[in-house]
Amino acid sequence: MIATADIDVTFSSETMVAYRIVPGLTEPQRTILPIPTPGPDEVLVKVLASGVCHSDVHLLDWSATRPFSQATHTLGHEGAGIVVRLGERVAQETQTLSIGTYVAVLTTNACEQPECSRCSRGFANVCFARPMLGIGADGSWAEYVVARASTVVPVPGNNPKSERLSPSVVAAATDAVMTPWHGLKRAARVRAGQTVLIFGCGGLGINAIQIAKNVLGAGAVIACDIREESLTIARSLGADYAIPPSALKALLEEKGLAVDVAVDLVGKQVTLDAAMDVVRTGGVILLLGLGDDAVSVNPLAVTTKQLTISGSFGGDFQDLEECLRAIDEGKVVPEVENRPLDECAQVIKDLAAGRIRTRIALVPQ
Ligand SMILES: [Zn+2]
Ligand SMILES: [Zn+2]
Repeated sequence: MIATADIDVTFSSETMVAYRIVPGLTEPQRTILPIPTPGPDEVLVKVLASGVCHSDVHLLDWSATRPFSQATHTLGHEGAGIVVRLGERVAQETQTLSIGTYVAVLTTNACEQPECSRCSRGFANVCFARPMLGIGADGSWAEYVVARASTVVPVPGNNPKSERLSPSVVAAATDAVMTPWHGLKRAARVRAGQTVLIFGCGGLGINAIQIAKNVLGAGAVIACDIREESLTIARSLGADYAIPPSALKALLEEKGLAVDVAVDLVGKQVTLDAAMDVVRTGGVILLLGLGDDAVSVNPLAVTTKQLTISGSFGGDFQDLEECLRAIDEGKVVPEVENRPLDECAQVIKDLAAGRIRTRIALVPQ
């Protein structure tokens, strides 16, 4: 593979800027760290863009009860960049990666051991045997990030100047595209012709609409959000209907639609209740959002409608490869805005306050 033109893979310094989470502090802390050295099975990636996610808001909100332990580490679980150093074994054994390869970085750091009950059964996306990058281990809100070679996915075309697969889009692919991709395709198993309802048309929802419609062939996609601006975007991205929750029941009645799969990207009691209410008998509720610490379900409703409640988290190597291909083919067009890495604390505040309408990617200066 030819080294990517115009990207500097030399080092002008031995240190880098990184934004870290520190237990008890609610703002990411700007820190100068040595540029890390990749281990034998790792690569060093020069970060070109790294996404900001509601999970980061949750991580920095120490009042929330979350299952991931949080020692001090660099944030950022949606990285895109260029391989600039190869670990010893990677240099000898890996054909697909070389200096200059443009990659997306998987946050899930699956162990890939044959005896792992998750990795060996198709659940590498939820193998937490090793801490996830940016959620436990050092992530990509930094100038450089180290990742295992088996967790970086080469970007089709190897061109960071590409419009369709710009670094910020590739960063979004690692979570905002891949999470709904895995959920819709592999957990809820959406089939052609089905009616899919999507609650929450923010960073993930706008991609869920396109995946359901353009990749999985849903017959009708209904986008539901309380924000009028998000509904406008949902319409422009191909949602057949885009309405506030208050108008949902009337719409289903008027159009004679029955919801086969209701996707909850919010994960709050109010959205789960609404999903339970409208999904058809025998339908699927796909839970992707992590809004409330706990939600309850009415057993009578679940049993008498014979519902399947399905959960999904992140995705694996194959999902990310497929997402990048779908973006390259123009089937999914993630909406992403760039902000400088140094503005990450403000971006977190804006996201927590609902002021971000799509997705933000941080760009190191
Ligand atoms: Zn995320
Ligand atoms: Zn595993």
